Amino acid sequence: MRRDELAQNLGEVEQRIAGACRAAHRPRSEVTLVVVTKTWPASDAILLRDLGVRDLAENRDQEARGKAAAVTGVRWHFVGQLQTNKAGSVASYADVVHSVDRPGLVDALSRGATRAGRSVEALLQVSLDGRRGGALPEDLLALADRVVAADGLLLRGVMAVAPLGMDPAEAFGRLQVVAAELTAVHPSATMISAGMSADLEQAIAAGATHVRVGTAVLGHRSAHLR
Ligand SMILES: *Cc1c(COP(=O)(O)O)cnc(C)c1O
Repeated sequence: MRRDELAQNLGEVEQRIAGACRAAHRPRSEVTLVVVTKTWPASDAILLRDLGVRDLAENRDQEARGKAAAVTGVRWHFVGQLQTNKAGSVASYADVVHSVDRPGLVDALSRGATRAGRSVEALLQVSLDGRRGGALPEDLLALADRVVAADGLLLRGVMAVAPLGMDPAEAFGRLQVVAAELTAVHPSATMISAGMSADLEQAIAAGATHVRVGTAVLGHRSAHLR
């Protein structure tokens, strides 16, 4: 049964998170598991909620919008590249957007949140190798100021994906430095979203407060899906 499989996988992920917290001398309560349900049906999201998962994530607007409408009683996170023309939609259902990486997106999310009468938590996505998908570390404080000044948005912290080919421990170490620079200016922006199925231990060792786990909970996505 799918429920048993998900419960078993969740138990294994919980063991990994708890072990990583112990190894890092951090309390387990500092790390939130965000389960990434992309490509899996809403029925899986409902099973996860009923198994006690409180935070779910998606990376495409259309799929996310449907699941957020179908599955209430959880916090919905939006992770991954976000086009400006989808920002208004995302701001109407997402509780947390992890991929805020440019001024135009801040403005579009702010307009959408205001229109929906909502408040959306924003994480600044950091590019750790200078490539697309994420702001450069040197642009982060200006972007943070723009979020703070924007109606309907709350600045909460940073997010990153370890670049392919970079040692995850090194990548998340860099993110931790950037996160400290941000909290020095914005003390309430304490979230660090880092770590996926393959590298959650390294992320927790480097201070992650939120790990985004898909495959280890739900199984392997088909090759044609992302
Ligand atoms: C898909 C995805 C994840 C989860 O990845 P897994 O390797 O399946 O755990 C995490 N973060 C982002 C941004 C994703 O797109």
